[in-house]
This record gives sequence, structure tokens and C-alpha cells, in this order.
Amino acid sequence: MIRKAIFPRCYLQGKDILNNLGGIGELETKKLFVLGTNTAVKQIIPVNLSSWQQICRIEYETFSGKCTWDEINRVRKIAASHNCDFIMGLGGGKAIDTARVVAWQLGVKYIAAPTIAATDAPTASACVVYNDAGAIVDYFTTANPDYVLVDTRIIARAPVRFLVSGMGDALATWFEAETCDRSHFKNICGGLNLRAVMAMAHLCYQTLLEYGRAAKISCEHKVVSPALEHIVEANTLLSGLGFESGGLSCAHGIHDCLCNLEGTHDYYHGEKVAFGTMAGLFLETRPQALIEEVYAFCRSVGLPTTLKKIGLEKVTDSQLKAAVQLVFDNKESYLHNIRVDLTPEGIIDAIRMADAFGGKEKN
Ligand SMILES: [Zn+2]
Repeated sequence: MIRKAIFPRCYLQGKDILNNLGGIGELETKKLFVLGTNTAVKQIIPVNLSSWQQICRIEYETFSGKCTWDEINRVRKIAASHNCDFIMGLGGGKAIDTARVVAWQLGVKYIAAPTIAATDAPTASACVVYNDAGAIVDYFTTANPDYVLVDTRIIARAPVRFLVSGMGDALATWFEAETCDRSHFKNICGGLNLRAVMAMAHLCYQTLLEYGRAAKISCEHKVVSPALEHIVEANTLLSGLGFESGGLSCAHGIHDCLCNLEGTHDYYHGEKVAFGTMAGLFLETRPQALIEEVYAFCRSVGLPTTLKKIGLEKVTDSQLKAAVQLVFDNKESYLHNIRVDLTPEGIIDAIRMADAFGGKEKN
């Protein structure tokens, strides 16, 4: 099998860079169609519009809030009627995914401009499409963005829980890439891992340990500090390249199990992935010192370390069994990227162990 990694063409990050669209030269005199979330259309576009109009021609539309096929078709018709050269997704993961699919369908260049650092979706080629009820109906790959444009002042002004959740998603990156690499499992782009990606995945973990707490405080005070910039890079670029070209495994597999339990529905992706990472530490027999390090990090930034903190205080073994079995029965699940002797009971034991270990600490 070949080794493979995929990347966005250009990654730009900095304070106030959205105001001049990152200085992207090829935008000049072209037409840019922006799909923005409600907040972006009300708060971000008005203060930047006149500056953007000096660079290129602008059209924009408000995102409905859901990445469904109906919404993708609606946005595609509008974008096509404008005959645009570039499409920019401005908002969270769902707005970015919708714009990504539309740009891919229309064959125009794509700019991902995340306004939060809650997940590692912006750099990726992978897209998730939902139905109106919020269940996943399609998962497929398009193309990595031509540009990823991350304005750290906008990220600093977003609610801190998004940044912390992004750290939870990024926390899984090294562990999952290492598991896939060690066992020669395919990564998300369909190859074996390159050393370059393993180095980025490890740097992702180190960056969280070194700068996570300071970045959280920075975001609480809406300050763009170097620590915040390092964590935005870890959450967005390092984690994004790390998951797509390094592979997913236990943390996201257990996240998928937890998502089958209603109590977790108010919790963010990265919060549940962080708990899945902790369960994975026990499932994969990681050494005590490493387990202590991960828990200490999670407590320091406020990521959940017990089932209670992800809405599952009273979850029974039979509820857990049903939730795990659903994912376990899917042979395509990342859960199977762990070990050949994996059983649902073993996964439940690891979830219970992660909860018990978290409960032993002073949180
Ligand atoms: Zn994730």
C-alpha cells in the first residue's frame, strides 16, 4: 500500500487578516460568493464589506444552519446564478462543509474561513451531510480548500467553549495517528502514514500541553496572544492534517458510540472526542504517566473527564451496550482501527475506567 497525505493549497492565519482577505492575489477583480452564518452576515460581513469590495466583486448569502442536500442545492443555485470564481464558507463546520460541496460541484476555487476553532474540519476534503433531524446521511470527500483563512481576532472573540472543544478534537490526533501507524491501518485519505504527518500529529499534542491553558485564558479575555495563535494552529491545521492524513481510531469511534446516547446531544464534538481519547488510553494499555498527563491537561482547560460531564451521569450498562453495539457492528467504523480482539464489553470497560479515573481526581 502507498503512503499518502493530502493538504490545502495555502493556509493563512493572523489577526485581522479577513479584512483584506488574507492578501490573496488571485482574488483581485474576480467574483467572490460568501456563504456566511447568521452571525457572520450580521457582524463580520458589514465591517469588512467595503474593504473586500476594493479587492473583488462580492455576493453573499446567509447559511440556513444545516448542511443538508436541500441547503446544498439551494446555495448551489444562488452561487451559480452569480457566476462566481471563488466561494468562501464563513462560519463553523457546517457552513464550511456546505460551501465546500457547492464549490466542488461548481468547479470553482474554495476558501474556508472558520470563525471558531471548534473542530479540525476547515483544512479537510471530507464532508458530512445531515438530514433535517440532524442524523448523518452522507460522508464523502471533495477536495481540500484552495485557501484556509483563519482570522485569530475573530476566533478570540468567539465563545471560549468552542476553542476548548477544538482542543478536545485535537487531543485525539496524535493518539489516533499513532495507533493507525503502528498497526498499518489506512488513514482517511486512503494510504499509510507519512513521517511528516506523524511529526505534525505529535506537534499537535505537544502544543496543547504547552499552550492550551494560556490560550483558554487568552480567549476568555478576548486577547490574541501567541499562545492562542499556537492553539488555533493546533486545532485547525495540525489536527486537520493529522486526522485526514494520519487516521482516526478509538477516540472518534467511542465518540460515535457516545453520540447514540441522548444525554450527550448538548455536548460538542470535541468534548466527546476528548472523553473517547481518555477511554482509548485504557483500551490501548497506555502507561500511567501518559494517562496522568492527559487527564491533567483536560482538567487544566476544562475538558470533561467523567461521564457526568458529558450528560451521562446515570447511563446504565445496557444503554452503553446498545450504543456501542451499533457502532461496533459497522465494520467500516474507526473503532476497528484499534486491535483485532476488540469486543463491545472491552469498550464499555474502557469507558467505565475513564470515568472512574476522572472521578478520582479533584476537578
Ligand atoms: Zn473530530
